[in-house]
Amino acid sequence: MIPGKSKTAAASEPRIKGLNEVGRYAIGVQWADGHDSIFPLANLRRYCPCNECGGETAEAIAPDRQRLLQLSRLGDNGVYLRWVDGHETLYTTAQMRATCRCAYCAGEPERPLTGD
Ligand SMILES: [Zn+2]
Ligand SMILES: [Zn+2]
Repeated sequence: MIPGKSKTAAASEPRIKGLNEVGRYAIGVQWADGHDSIFPLANLRRYCPCNECGGETAEAIAPDRQRLLQLSRLGDNGVYLRWVDGHETLYTTAQMRATCRCAYCAGEPERPLTGD
């Protein structure tokens, strides 16, 4: 047993308490469990889970296409982003939370690491 790690992340869907733009190149998410995330728009676009992008785009995306036209919460369990080039991205909160690269999330021992 590891002290302080008794909660398992997979137990329930993460819920969003607050959502805001951070400057022009990132958005901030405040989670109901008290965690705060900053997501660079470049990462959100890169890991877009839509069918077309498939969870990770191989090609580099020009910075002028990584700007948002619209940012909306879909209730507690999803986030909708519309980009300047017309692309639409829909993240469930679980997908979004998995994209968090903060020191805490990156260090989660239970988090599976994929090689490719
Ligand atoms: Zn996409
Ligand atoms: Zn995090």
